[in-house]
Amino acid sequence: MGLLTFKGGVHPYDGKELSKDKPIKSVSPKGDLVYLLSQHIGAPAKPIVAKGDRVLAGQKIAEPGGFVSSPVHASVSGTVKAIEPHLTVTGAMVPAIVVENDQKYEEVEFSSVEKVEDLTKEEVIKRIQEGGVVGMGGAGFPTHVKLSPKDPDKIEYVLINGAECEPYITSDYKRMMDEPQLVIAGLKTILYLFDNAKGYICIEDNKPDCIKKMEELVKSEPRIEVKALQTKYPQGAERSLIYATTGREVNSSMLPADAGCVVDNVETAVAAYKAVVLGRPLMHKIITVTGDAVANPQNFAVCTGTIYEELVEEAGGFQQEPEKIISGGPMMGQGLFSMQVPVTKSSSALLCLTKDEVSANKETACINCGRCVSVCPARLVPSRLATFADHQDEEAFVKWEGMECVACGCCSFTCPAKRHLTQSIKSMRAMVLNNRKKNA
Ligand code: SF4
Ligand code: SF4
Repeated sequence: MGLLTFKGGVHPYDGKELSKDKPIKSVSPKGDLVYLLSQHIGAPAKPIVAKGDRVLAGQKIAEPGGFVSSPVHASVSGTVKAIEPHLTVTGAMVPAIVVENDQKYEEVEFSSVEKVEDLTKEEVIKRIQEGGVVGMGGAGFPTHVKLSPKDPDKIEYVLINGAECEPYITSDYKRMMDEPQLVIAGLKTILYLFDNAKGYICIEDNKPDCIKKMEELVKSEPRIEVKALQTKYPQGAERSLIYATTGREVNSSMLPADAGCVVDNVETAVAAYKAVVLGRPLMHKIITVTGDAVANPQNFAVCTGTIYEELVEEAGGFQQEPEKIISGGPMMGQGLFSMQVPVTKSSSALLCLTKDEVSANKETACINCGRCVSVCPARLVPSRLATFADHQDEEAFVKWEGMECVACGCCSFTCPAKRHLTQSIKSMRAMVLNNRKKNA
């Protein structure tokens, strides 16, 4: 079996052995639940409940603020305690609905169908939208928008991203191992929308048990294949995945649909199936709580809105003082200053690293070794781009294709001078985008 991959990339220590062989544990939240109104790319959702209202699990509590937006649903039953700004993983305060959990877990009645074929394609998209499904691999892009390309007949590949290339994270692996049928049902739900497409379940070859299980389950599915990918970071980045499996290239001015592809993460596909066939909105997540600082690293099935601090308690608390706490993985995650932030639809992991796991970060001068260039999957020159960024030289930054950076972190990871390349390039990229918006 040939292994598919992309150009560039790195091989960081993966840390997955800490959590991959332990069962997923369901967590019942103890404290209040906090539902951010911006858990997705696009317009924030608008509250449709008021302080004092009783809500049920699965009830819509905020409606989309536009087409590129998504509703928010309560994940427990209880009483709306407040609608107020709350801290997010980025340190920003955004409006949120706070629900006091009554511990009864009473649910609304969900309207299921027997099979996806009982619905029209429009109804499928509508149910995905109504179910609040967004990209759960980190981006949070509303899935109903992604599944509504201009010309659905031109989609040739639906790629289920099971690469899970970020070190330490094992939530997609656990889902694929424990409930592979749900992943396949999710892919079939999406394939129903694209008559000319084949479905690929894409998995890195560091999960051979998972590849074998999926291959066995899809062997009589004519439209579905499993694609084994070389284990290399960032194999799961959308552009890397498309290139590895189809040989097609996508740049920052294109959508995957322009290359005939739709890419959805494992959990997004499961959420799409649940929303469409079971009529259940997105209100749970599997979160990997891991790193040497926590006593019992494990995956947890949690209600959206659960405060991160509760997850550390579920994992047995800290066995060592954490040096760094990250929401997400070590390559693309967000360093946390507070654990009082809620789980959102696109949260994936809480990584608690000890001093030994955090490398010394003292920046020194570039030695022109060229390593950052050799690992960049976007084939950029990160050393130069970071210098342009440090000098705020927008023209040179754009000319040297800085806008093609996918913020994967490979350049910073490999740099012997510990230059903060990704950080500089990412900030400059955001500045250019802001300036473009202002001048539009
Ligand atoms: S320049 Fe951007 S895309 Fe290239 S390695 Fe660095 S972070 Fe990744
Ligand atoms: S890897 Fe670091 S030291 Fe080497 S060329 Fe790039 S920026 Fe300079």
